[in-house]
Amino acid sequence: MNNLNLPPAKHFINGEWVDAASGQTFLTYDPATEQPLAEAAHGGVADVEQAVSAARRALSGAWGQMLPKERGRFLYAVSQEILAQREELALLETLDSGKPLTLARREVEGTARYFEYYAGAADKIHGEQIPLGRERLDFTLREPMGVTAHIVPWNKPLNILARSLAPALAAGNTAVVKPSEQTPLTALKLAQIFARLDCPPGVLNVVNGFGEEAGAALAGHTAIDHLTFTGSVPTGREVMKAAAEHIKPVLLELGGKSPLIIFADADLETAVAEAMRGITINCGQMCSAGSRLLVEASIRQPFVALLLAQLRRLRIGPGVEDVEMGPLVSELQFERVSNHIEIAQSEGAEIIYGGERPPHLPRGYFILPTLFDRVLPDMHIAQQEVFGPVLALTTFNDEEEALNIANNIPYGLIAGVFTQNISRALRMASRLQAGQVFINQYYTEDEEMPFGGYKQSGFGRSKGLVALHHYTQIKNIAVKL
Ligand code: NDP
Repeated sequence: MNNLNLPPAKHFINGEWVDAASGQTFLTYDPATEQPLAEAAHGGVADVEQAVSAARRALSGAWGQMLPKERGRFLYAVSQEILAQREELALLETLDSGKPLTLARREVEGTARYFEYYAGAADKIHGEQIPLGRERLDFTLREPMGVTAHIVPWNKPLNILARSLAPALAAGNTAVVKPSEQTPLTALKLAQIFARLDCPPGVLNVVNGFGEEAGAALAGHTAIDHLTFTGSVPTGREVMKAAAEHIKPVLLELGGKSPLIIFADADLETAVAEAMRGITINCGQMCSAGSRLLVEASIRQPFVALLLAQLRRLRIGPGVEDVEMGPLVSELQFERVSNHIEIAQSEGAEIIYGGERPPHLPRGYFILPTLFDRVLPDMHIAQQEVFGPVLALTTFNDEEEALNIANNIPYGLIAGVFTQNISRALRMASRLQAGQVFINQYYTEDEEMPFGGYKQSGFGRSKGLVALHHYTQIKNIAVKL
């Protein structure tokens, strides 16, 4: 690993690489080998303080004066540089998080796409004129929020960061980023790209550290103007409480327990392939994972037979070997997933595949994809987000029952409906409580589609043009002529 081009074990604040105020660092690990991978600066309150001050100063500096079209050109240059460094970024992401190289490459391309997409929007963010008669001129401005904070999880470290950072910058804000302490490397590489492209100091600041320290300091900071958080529901709740103290707006992307609803008239092979992809991608560590299979009772047998055949064929191993599924991100995540499996079994859910470590992989946080059959809708494994490759299969007899099972859950992120009957598909889509509904496919990554949750899956929308609205505030100006 010595020939890896690692970023410095420092924070990136005000355009400079600085040590943690405490002088401390921590280690990040390769989950496929359990071996240390790199060092990162261990940030806390003092580091966050410096970063927020730098971001505030940058608002009135060169960045604040840049024309929107120039901001757009800068963001486009970032997207091109990300693509130029695709292989290096993908390798680091794979080593830090465990994901297969092909997936890491796709996420890096998606990262570049966010910057490209919002680059094109930077000079098209404008207000409107409101007709109030000849005696008055009334119009609105869309102004940046100011300093935006981004608390990023470990499952798609660079891609999820870009999802909120690119629209925030396109709208003229500055940013302070706190990556997960488990996967700090690619955010620092992105900071290197910003530095290389001569970004004005303080526009992007990256502070590494742990959630309870650096994360909490950022969430509760009085001088941030907006907070984007992606992660678990309990932490999302804490972050929201901290932001509420200072009346700061938050965008929360939280968990999911999303259903694939498969009717008897569906194309079975497509449905099985999508079910596989929906749960094995990133080892199931996706808020959008399709972790509930609702299958019409009459096709349960052929569906399960096809799915089992695919589960047995899945290639599992270290992400650098470009397998189909890598390890879980950490020992803690391995324990969490194992714990969910134990609870499910203790409740009487029946494992028909997986549930344990693959025999050929004694080291690393590997787990077999796991299929629970005959799951009742109120069981733990049907209600709780596992964040691992664990499927819960429940059967239904008609449309109404499928809808009730699908909606009877605290989450509402994604749903997939598989049927040849277009009327039924659209009826289901309109009644499903989810931020995205896919018909005859499951979740896709398109950066143009608004993405976000109903219910405890969060609120606000990322992706698409609508995301820009979170990072601007409207000012109305009324003129008496
Ligand atoms: P968390 O929600 O705890 O962490 C997400 C981010 O928040 C990380 O950057 C974390 O930092 C930070 N953080 C943690 N505590 C605080 C705090 N008090 N204030 C501010 N920021 C904080 O997720 P976990 O890593 O613990 O994963 C647990 C579960 O969360 C998973 O099993 C899964 O269910 C869910 N999850 C959902 C994700 C999604 O995309 N919706 C993504 C990741 C997790 P650090 O990691 O450095 O502690």
